Amino acid sequence: MPPIYRLHAARRSATRRQRNEIVALAGESVSATISARTPTGMIVTPSRPPHASLRAVDLVELDLDGQRRGRCWLEPSTEWPLHAAIYRARGDIEAIVHAHGPRPSAASMAQALRVTAMLGAGAAVRIAQHGVIAVGPTLRDAFEVARGVERRHVV
Ligand SMILES: [Zn+2]
Repeated sequence: MPPIYRLHAARRSATRRQRNEIVALAGESVSATISARTPTGMIVTPSRPPHASLRAVDLVELDLDGQRRGRCWLEPSTEWPLHAAIYRARGDIEAIVHAHGPRPSAASMAQALRVTAMLGAGAAVRIAQHGVIAVGPTLRDAFEVARGVERRHVV
């Protein structure tokens, strides 16, 4: 196989692995918005729970401007701008887990940039009355960070 095709095949299977991992994590945290970076942008959980019945094909693939890639026509999480802003600002991270209550608010680009600034070079930021945004080099890392921050704040 010419190297360029090998590269494409590797990327395709990476995306498949990411999809399966997001589905598994969504089952553990049903109200979280979860995303992973892809070669062309990101895959993100759709806007409609329940995540308990989420399938790999339900994940929405977007570029970082919010243009659709791939074949899923579900609506992406309303908070996709937040994820996109963080991927732009943080070349070092591959995954984002954003955990909060069952009613996510839509993120405007201005809010997204504010949260991204609050996150800085850190692994997580907690926004009062909203939730936790955790980032990491892998989905599992981001998920564990989010869970740790949530636990510390449960009274
Ligand atoms: Zn949120």
